[in-house]
Order: sequence, then structure tokens, then C-alpha cells
Amino acid sequence: MKLNKTKMPNVLPSERANNFNEVACGYDFDSAEMEATRCLQCKNPRCVSACPVNINIPKFIDHIVNREWEEAYYAISEDNILPSICGRVCPQEKQCEGACVVGIKGESVAIGALERAVGDYAIINDLNRVMPVRENTGKVAIVGSGPAGLACAYEIRLLGYTVTVYEALHKFGGVLQYGIPDFRLPKSIVNNEIERLEKLGVMFKKNILVGKTITIDQLKSNLEYDAVFIGAGAGLPISLNIPGENFAGVYYANEFLTRVNLMRAMEFPHAVTPIRTGEKVFVIGGGNVAMDAARTAKRIGAKEVVVLYRRDREAMPARREEIIHATEEGVSFAFLRSPVKIEGKGYRVKKIVCEKMILGKPDQSNRRRPIPTNTYETYQADTVIIAIGQRPNPILSRHTKGLKTDMKGYVIVDETYQTTLPGVFAGGDVVSGAGTVIHAMGQGKKAAHFIHEYLIQKKKIDTDK
Ligand code: FAD
Ligand code: SF4
Ligand code: SF4
Repeated sequence: MKLNKTKMPNVLPSERANNFNEVACGYDFDSAEMEATRCLQCKNPRCVSACPVNINIPKFIDHIVNREWEEAYYAISEDNILPSICGRVCPQEKQCEGACVVGIKGESVAIGALERAVGDYAIINDLNRVMPVRENTGKVAIVGSGPAGLACAYEIRLLGYTVTVYEALHKFGGVLQYGIPDFRLPKSIVNNEIERLEKLGVMFKKNILVGKTITIDQLKSNLEYDAVFIGAGAGLPISLNIPGENFAGVYYANEFLTRVNLMRAMEFPHAVTPIRTGEKVFVIGGGNVAMDAARTAKRIGAKEVVVLYRRDREAMPARREEIIHATEEGVSFAFLRSPVKIEGKGYRVKKIVCEKMILGKPDQSNRRRPIPTNTYETYQADTVIIAIGQRPNPILSRHTKGLKTDMKGYVIVDETYQTTLPGVFAGGDVVSGAGTVIHAMGQGKKAAHFIHEYLIQKKKIDTDK
């Protein structure tokens, strides 16, 4: 057996750095079939338990080996309705692939790339999940159309209930739509996989901010929903809390990425939202969001993009692949730098002042703690993008009496994902904090089954009355 993965081609850095076309090209049929033969078809597959939605990985890979692409898709869609998305954005190295036994002696099976190939086959050939015949009366409302809400809606629908997704924005998909850029996840893929849910009978309503346009109480009492699932994500940026954050030209990464991905600012003046970075952009942070912002800034015309990070390269939480891609595209890094002040001229940002750090002993995160040195550096800046994390937007909890959150605003749930309000469940980033697409989906899926149990109990109580 080959010890190395079948290589997936990428567009050359010189050809991709100025456009939003997808960077990773995906497998063709031959490459996928070759890679699929590397799977050992383990009797107790560790990869499956390492996938938060427990896709039957050996089964779908076996179908690829036998060139049964349609069956491979149906095998995946038993557990995951978004294979083209997950195949592209899951941090597989920490999940399914991280547990693959082939990875002990060589490189693990490229499960993500194979899943992507199957998902794309289904899109090209317009395959749809066949609904199992199941009857269940009851109405469920989902708040938020991100991965948690979509996964919950899918499971609830498969269980036979009527389900409606309420979304505050004018497009569906949450971070998949407004956060992750096209060069990693084309929006046609997101829209296509969501349309699949519509074909199953999931209803979608956009431009509805639950908590303002309609409250959860009204969803239950006026619109007679039997249960509600909150998958509202963590879209509120954490601020640096340093002087000068309000100068024009200072963005939070969420706003910057939303302008480009959702409002299509890169197509201005054909799109209504403009964006201007100037020549020199500083991105603050070391995670995937920072990488997306830096690579996006390069593509919309910044000459120089520098990522400022307070620890070193090894401690960066971003995926290695994203750091390599960013570097290939000309993004540079200044490590052990912590911003202390942003200076401006008039109303616009002009400079960013950073304190140099050194690394001390490991902290709770097991990474060496950055320690200030009292020495400073000042850089000229046309744009500063802050990407140091997000928390849940408090609008929903403020306007929902009885919905308890913790000190940081995360919705408190019990082991069944039920909140402090009976019949109201929650999952994804709004509960666990900024995580991954597939963890949010895993929680949405599990919550759906607890909602099902809740509805069965509720029906019993209602009939006994
Ligand atoms: P979200 O995706 O945030 O969706 C929540 C939805 O709810 C949004 O559409 C929001 O508009 C809507 N909403 C909020 N409040 C209301 C309300 N009151 N009424 C109605 N609707 C509401 N993870 C990965 O696995 N791989 C990656 O490569 C990756 N890259 C990322 C890049 C960026 C830029 C960001 C920001 C995150 C990234 N993540 C990645 C993390 C991942 O996207 C999130 O963990 C995941 O999207 C969380 O899903 P969710 O459904 O909980 O919330
Ligand atoms: Fe791996 Fe993600 Fe696919 Fe699960 S959904 S098998 S974690 S790539
Ligand atoms: Fe195949 Fe690896 Fe999963 Fe075993 S652990 S079934 S080899 S993908």
C-alpha cells in the first residue's frame, strides 16, 4: 500500500493571488479511486468515532473503490447533508484523518478529499436524498442557518416534523456564507447544498432577526411551534480594547469578511458595498479567521499584508495548510508582537504600535505565555483588521426572558441541549464558543434527537390532559 496520500492539485500561487477562484482543485475520479484503495476497511474504524457526525467512512470509501458514486453519496448523507462543504473546510487532520490507522506508519487516508469528491459528484449529477417515509406531527423553528441550524433542520425533517429556519441575514449558511471566503469554499457549493435541504421540505425565512423581528415566545405562542432550536452562532467580535480602535480603516474580521463574501465588495461598483484597504494592511490574530482576512486583503489589492501575532509560528491556532497558502500568496508574519495603540490622522488609521513579547512558561492552553518586554515598534498602516475571536451576539438572550447565558454570553444548556427554557434547545458556537463547522453540526444533529424525544413526551402529556 502507498504510504503517502494521493496529491490534490492546487492552483499556483502566481495564478490565484489576485482572484477568488478556489485554490484546492479536488480529486478527479481516477485519483479518488486510487486514494480510496488505501483504506483498510477497519472492523472498528477509529475514523468514524473521530467524526463528530459519525459518517460511515469505510462504507462510503468502499463504494468509491467499486465506482458506485451514487451509493457513496447516499451512504454519507445518512449522517451528513453537507459533504461538499465539510470535505473542504473540516480540520480533518484533527478529526477523522487524525484517527485513521493508516496515519500511524504513513499519511492517513484523505477522507476529507474523498468526501468532497462524492459531494461534488452529487451536485453535478443533481442527486437528492430520498426521504424515508416517516410521519410525525409537530412544528420546529430553527434560529440561525449556520451549520448547527442546518444539521438540526435536516435531522428534524428526516424524523418527519415540519421545520422552518429563521435567518437574520439575506442569505443562508452562517459563517459558510459570510465568513469563509470563496477561494476556500465557493458560494455555489454552499447554496447548492442548502437547496438540497429545501428539496427535502425544510422551509427557510430570511431577514428575520429573532429577538427583534419576532421573539422566541411569539414563535411558540403565536406561530405555535412545539420546539425551538437556537443555532445563532458567535458573531460578535471581541475587541482589542486599545486606544484608536474606532479610526476609519480599522475593521473587525467579521465585518471585513462579510463585506467581501456576503456583500461582494470585491465586485464593486457592480456590487453596492465598497471596500478599500490601501497599500499596507495589518491583521491581528493567529487563527483561521486571521488567515482568511489576510488572504482576502491581498486579493482585493493590498500590496503588503502582515499578520501580527503575540506568540510564535508554532503556537498559531490556524491550520498549517492555511498558513502555507497565505505565505505562498505573499502574506508575511511578525511574531511576538502585541498591539497596544492605533494612531490616526484626521479620522483615518495611520499607524499601529506594538509591544515586543518574549515567550515564558506554558499557560493553560499548553502554549508558552507571551510576556511583555516594554519595548515598542511602530508601523505605518492603511488598514488594520482585528481577528482575535468572537462571542455570541446578546440580542437574542436580552430579548428572551428566562434564557440563561454564562458570563461571556454563551447559552447554557443541559446534557440534552435544552436551555433554561422548556422546549428551547441550542447548539453550535452559541453554546460552545468559536469552534468548527462539523462540531456545530454534530451538536445540531444530537439536539435534533433530543427535540424528537421532547416532542414525544409533550404529545403524551397533551393527550393525557
Ligand atoms: P454560525 O455559522 O455563526 O451561524 C449562525 C447563524 O445564525 C448566522 O447566519 C447568523 O446570521 C444567524 N443568527 C444569529 N442571530 C440570529 C437571530 N437572532 N435571529 C436569526 N438568525 C440569527 N470552521 C471549520 O471547521 N473550518 C474552517 O475552515 C473554518 N473557517 C472559519 C473562518 C471564519 C472567517 C470564521 C468566522 C469561522 C470559521 N470556522 C471554521 C468556524 C465555523 O465556521 C463555526 O464554528 C461554525 O460556522 C459555527 O456554526 P453555527 O451554526 O453555530 O454558527
Ligand atoms: Fe471528516 Fe469532517 Fe467528513 Fe467527518 S465530516 S468524516 S470530520 S471531513
Ligand atoms: Fe479506512 Fe483509516 Fe477509517 Fe480504517 S481508520 S476505515 S483505514 S479511513
